[in-house]
Formats: sequence, structure tokens, C-alpha cells
Amino acid sequence: MHHFAYRNGSLHCEQIDLQEVAAAYGTPTFVYSKNTILSDLEELQLAFAPIDAHIAFAVKACSNGAILKLLAQRGVGFDIVSGGELWRVIRAGGNPALCTYAGVGKSETEIRYALSCGIYCFICESEGELREIDRLAAEMGNVAPVAVRVNPNVDAHTHKYITTGTQENKFGVDASRIEALYSTVAAEMPHLKLRGVQMHIGSQITETEPFVKAVKKLAPLVQKLKAAHGIEFWSIGGGVGVVYDGCLASGSPEWWKNHPEQITLKSYAEALIPLLKPLGLRILLEPGRRLSGNAAVMLTRCLYEKKGEKKTFKIIDAGMNDIIRPALYEGYHEIWPVREHAANDSVVADVVGPICESGDFQAQNRSLPDVRPGELLAEMSAGAYGFSMSSTYNSRPLAAEVLVDGARMQLIRRRQTLEEMVEDEILPE
Ligand SMILES: *Cc1c(COP(=O)(O)O)cnc(C)c1O
Repeated sequence: MHHFAYRNGSLHCEQIDLQEVAAAYGTPTFVYSKNTILSDLEELQLAFAPIDAHIAFAVKACSNGAILKLLAQRGVGFDIVSGGELWRVIRAGGNPALCTYAGVGKSETEIRYALSCGIYCFICESEGELREIDRLAAEMGNVAPVAVRVNPNVDAHTHKYITTGTQENKFGVDASRIEALYSTVAAEMPHLKLRGVQMHIGSQITETEPFVKAVKKLAPLVQKLKAAHGIEFWSIGGGVGVVYDGCLASGSPEWWKNHPEQITLKSYAEALIPLLKPLGLRILLEPGRRLSGNAAVMLTRCLYEKKGEKKTFKIIDAGMNDIIRPALYEGYHEIWPVREHAANDSVVADVVGPICESGDFQAQNRSLPDVRPGELLAEMSAGAYGFSMSSTYNSRPLAAEVLVDGARMQLIRRRQTLEEMVEDEILPE
């Protein structure tokens, strides 16, 4: 549950009026609720307390150092997918010994860096990668802890661009080939230590069924690997979905009573614990979206209204460079005016940005309050794959980020200046 709600006719993040944030820092600005992140983290930890479970936050979902520091201070580990993310984690005070390093294309530089930092485990995706890590570990006089990502071939019922656990995807190694691969590692790669096994079936999964199916399917294999190679952990990945359509309302317990089908951290844990507990392994959880998605909004301003032949457009000062999810994989975000409107004051419109691309929309054919130019809007559930995927496309400086804690707000990323935007470019003489 999140801490965004209307109070006295104005949308608040915890106790801070979003109008105050816009007045202080301008728009577009990402506004995070510290207590939303922390209460969800606690809920997840509590739900998995009956087993030896550890959380590794997926940094790619939300990589601001202030957010990473918040999590690191609570003993959370991190799931990283690049040397850059590992560097960020360490900078924020995170412990590399609690980091798993996933991804299909680790470079030599990245592998050497992660090895020298002493990460918990490399999550490998091919035999070629295992051989490369073995070679580099040998050169460095080291032993690299490894696990292999197993592809369970389970349909996660999510968008095709964020499904990762089927035979059509580039991720993981087919379950049928895992035992042979582990034996090859044990026999031929002396600078690797088989520490665990991993799966990650996709993202924005809103029901428990695909997780249950995948865990049931792989549990016998995991048991065999434990017996044969003494592995100590099974990472079951991330992927738990958030509420996008219904986000604002889901800040109240009432909403959850009326939506029993929606996955919760509790239902996720309750469905999986009976399957995981008998294995006697350390279980790693790699949530990204679920811990940060509903914990932020992107604050933006309506610049113009344009009535076309067939459509009404609300043009805002944030574009696909700020949030690319709608353009990239048809991501859905609720859009609410910061100043509350009467329930009957609505219009069907497209909410679009200033970018020169037809794909630059945040909502299409959406029934929403009839906001006027100059009004502030909050694009909800923007905390995951929001700022972390942003760019300066169209030469638009990166947005600001603000962290709210009760009645206090703190800038955690200054808005980029034009000079900063081009500072790495070199103008030839
Ligand atoms: C992206 C990713 C995650 C996080 O996925 P969410 O849907 O954000 O929870 C976890 N593990 C791996 C390996 C990933 O690539």
C-alpha cells in the first residue's frame, strides 16, 4: 500500500502537498515516498520470515543512490545487471557480499570488477559465460561463486517484452540441460564454485499461479543440484506486479478487499513457502518493481490543450524520455490532477509529451479529469522503470528526484543543467 492521497483537495505524498514540491523543484520531478518503500519492504520480510529468505533489490528498477542507501541500511542485498550498478550499490553503502550479478552479456571488465569486489554470486546464462568467468578467476587467482539461471519455460501472462522465462526468450538455460551443465562446471572449471541456482520468469506478474507453476516445475531439479553439488541457495527472481490501473485507490485497504485476485506480498509468500521450505535452501528474492513501483509519482504540468479532428490532446511537460514505459511496452499509468476535480468534470483525451515521436504518449483515449493548461498532474506508480530508464532524447535534461519522509522533503537528484547534459561531448577544433 502506498502513501499518496488527496487531502484538503490537493494530492499529497505522505504529508507533503505535491504543489509544494513543484513550487520548490519544478517539473517534471519524480517524487518518492520513503514510508511506502519501507512498509512494503517490511511486509515482504515478514511474509517470508518462516523461511531463510533474503531480499536482493533489482537495482535496474530504481537506481537512485538515496533509495539504494535506504535499502542497504536495512540489510537488503542487491540484484545487479552491470558493473555500473555494482558501483552504484557500493557508493550508496551497499554490501557487495549480498549482491547477485545477472545478465546475458557481462564484459571482461565487469567480471573482473565484480570478482574483485567479492560479490555473493554470478548468475550465469550460458556455458560460454561460465568458461569466461573461470578463465578470469584463474588469472586473478580467485574462485568465482556461480549459479546458472534456469529457464523453466513457464508463461508469466505478462507483456511479451517483459516475459523472460519461455524458450522464446534470450534468458537462462533450458531446464533439461542444467544437470549436464553443472557437471561440466564441476569437472572442467576449477575456478568456479557452484553456489546456487536461479530463475526469473518475467515482470509485472499479477497472479501467484505462474510463480507456483515455475517453482513446482523446478523444485525436483533444484533438489538434485543440492544433492550433487551442495548448492546453498535458490533465487526465485523478482516479477511480482504492482497495481497500475487502480493505483490511487489501492492506497486504501478497501480496494484490496474488492480485488482478491490481485497478487499481494502475503499471497505470494503463502503460495510459495510450502513449496520452498522442504528444500532446506536459502531463498533469494529479487523484487524490483514491487518495492519501488507504487512508491513514486512523476509530477508534470499541463502546457496546452489541443483539440484535433478526432481527438483531444493534453500536452504535458514530460515526455517518453522521462517515462518510456507506455511507448516501450504499452505500460499503463494513472494520471491525476494535483488539484482535485469534481467527479463529473471529465474528458476523454490523449496525454502526450513534447517529443517528436508519435509514440510519445503517456495515455491514450483516457477518461480523466478535464485539466486546464497550467495545472499540475501526477503520473502514478512511476517509481519503477521510470527515472532509471529516462534519457535526454530531444536534448531534454534529466528530471529531478525528491524523497518525501513524513512532512520532510529532500532533493535526491538535482535537475540536470544544459551544461551537464553536454559535458561529455567534444567539439572538434
Ligand atoms: C529485472 C530483474 C528483476 C526484477 O524484476 P521486477 O519485475 O522488477 O521485480 C529480478 N531479477 C532479474 C534477474 C531481473 O533481470
